[in-house]
Amino acid sequence: MSKDQLSVNLARIRAQIEAAALKCGRLPQDVTLIAISKTHPASLVRAAIELGATDVGENRVQEAEKKINEVGRNATRWHLVGHLQANKARRAVQLFDVIHSLDSLELARRLDRLCGEEGRKNLPVLIQVDLGHEETKSGIDEGQLSELAERLKELERVQLVGLMTLPPFFDDPEQARPFFRRLRELRDELASRGAFGDRKGELSMGMTNDFAVAIEEGATMVRVGTAIFGQR
Ligand SMILES: *Cc1c(COP(=O)(O)O)cnc(C)c1O
Repeated sequence: MSKDQLSVNLARIRAQIEAAALKCGRLPQDVTLIAISKTHPASLVRAAIELGATDVGENRVQEAEKKINEVGRNATRWHLVGHLQANKARRAVQLFDVIHSLDSLELARRLDRLCGEEGRKNLPVLIQVDLGHEETKSGIDEGQLSELAERLKELERVQLVGLMTLPPFFDDPEQARPFFRRLRELRDELASRGAFGDRKGELSMGMTNDFAVAIEEGATMVRVGTAIFGQR
């Protein structure tokens, strides 16, 4: 993809985010666009950053590592949005600013210990909640959520900042709405019990096909790949 095309795509998505936010009385700046660059080359990520992409997401540690080394660890905020295996946790602590896919207390404890070893004071994480119960998708059941959130308060460096979900794919984005709404309810419940400190809590939800609906349901982080970088 040319940089001109990338520029057009980014401008269009930003305009759509703004329209979706204003439509429901929210501030556009309360929605962070995370450009999901998996499978796309470092050169394209660099171009996106030059065009103002403040947040970039990858779903696999190994692929991200090469790209982050090429583009620069501090060139943008790097988000891990895919499942994290225990044996990649140290690399994840080194490479990513935010981890969206926390799915167990064991992983959280490991990340917390590794932060200590790597001299990292603070690691913002989101718990991935499995609302669609599809075999291929990870995350915890909503029934386990409050217990996990409570236990995370004991950790020194891992800091719970919000919830993430990946609903089943629907051609009609309206069908994803109940999943987004449910995640918001869960976030609100946790917030009322202080799970996010004095913050309201982030909602990482919405992709190319459904981010406008997600914003209407309260998304504060949308993860958009295809509409920015093209088909994978
Ligand atoms: C790939 C991916 C996205 C982006 O999906 P698009 O449909 O290309 O916008 C968002 N979130 C996660 C977790 C992903 O793996």
